[in-house]
Amino acid sequence: MSHVALPPNLLPADGRFGCGPSKIRPAQLKALAQSGWSVLGTSHRQAPVKNLVGSVREHLGELFTLPEGYEIIVGNGGSTAFWDAAAFGLIEHRAQNLVFGEFGGKFAAAAAAPWLTAPDVRKAEPGTRAVAEAVEGVDVYAWPHNETSTGVSAPIARVHGDEGALTVIDATSAAGGIDFSLAEADVYYFAPQKNLGSDGGLWFAAVSPAAIDRIERIAASDRYIPEFLSLKNALDNSRLNQTLNTPAVSTLFLLEEQLTWMLSNGGLAWADARTHESSDALYEWAEASSFATPFVANPADRSPVVVTIDFDESIDASNIAKSLRANGVVDTEPYRKLGRNQLRVATFVSIEPDDVRQLIRCIDYTLKNL
Ligand SMILES: *Cc1c(COP(=O)(O)O)cnc(C)c1O
Repeated sequence: MSHVALPPNLLPADGRFGCGPSKIRPAQLKALAQSGWSVLGTSHRQAPVKNLVGSVREHLGELFTLPEGYEIIVGNGGSTAFWDAAAFGLIEHRAQNLVFGEFGGKFAAAAAAPWLTAPDVRKAEPGTRAVAEAVEGVDVYAWPHNETSTGVSAPIARVHGDEGALTVIDATSAAGGIDFSLAEADVYYFAPQKNLGSDGGLWFAAVSPAAIDRIERIAASDRYIPEFLSLKNALDNSRLNQTLNTPAVSTLFLLEEQLTWMLSNGGLAWADARTHESSDALYEWAEASSFATPFVANPADRSPVVVTIDFDESIDASNIAKSLRANGVVDTEPYRKLGRNQLRVATFVSIEPDDVRQLIRCIDYTLKNL
């Protein structure tokens, strides 16, 4: 297929619209090149890297306005490792997992570990969302704040089930892009390669006192827990601003740059307004168009950070994505397993709202000329 050459005046200043790994701002990369030498290639057991971990933990706490007694913990392996760590060290007997896309489904699969009671899985069709319901004997209620595979976001509200039951939120693509109240969750975990504009490989979690109690209690029980997946180990190391084994120092550095940028601009409220400005531009364009519609039918469920747009069958969305890619406007393809005639666009906080408006002009131009 030949592509449509986009006129330079329509091109976004930065053509990265992927949902993860996602755009890292040039200023962060410049800072890494200029002063990364002070930490990259140095011992993670010495002050410079430990101070960096400490600063990241402090700034995450500031961004999320940590309630009394909450702590930020960190470990290696990204959010996928956290799912297994949770199966070993956070779920006591049984989880309830809301599944409305790939990522919620992956945690449900991890929660089906043989030492636990089979999870109570509440499934909803892609493009809609499931709702938690208090069930006796469930001690972890889990769902994604933002389901990256479909562009559905769900509110964060504590489930008042059995005493001590924990609300555990996968915030990988939401953290830093959607405002919320952390007091409504016990565990809010994420990897930093999405709104937090860094690279992959680490997981972070804001944990409540009840979650810390749970982690301590399970660790003290006779359950077998591998060292690498031990949340107790992560908790103890995090308090010393360390990780069990070597962390990706550049990921920490880039994250710290992003956090100071976000906090200096106004923190989570500012970020939330910015992602809404970008995503609203796309949703309004699709609503007004005769050939495109927002995939998520209920406006209340539409994600402000991952926008999914379905196209009329007379148009092959994959040709639009391919043509955009040939112009350096990349990663607008839909989630690979969703299999829809769709474009998916990240409107994370690092992405300029002006660039989103340029992207819309690029799509219109491509469609007219394809
Ligand atoms: C990207 C993503 C993940 C996976 O993160 P990894 O760090 O690659 O394991 C998990 N959950 C959600 C909601 C995501 O968007």
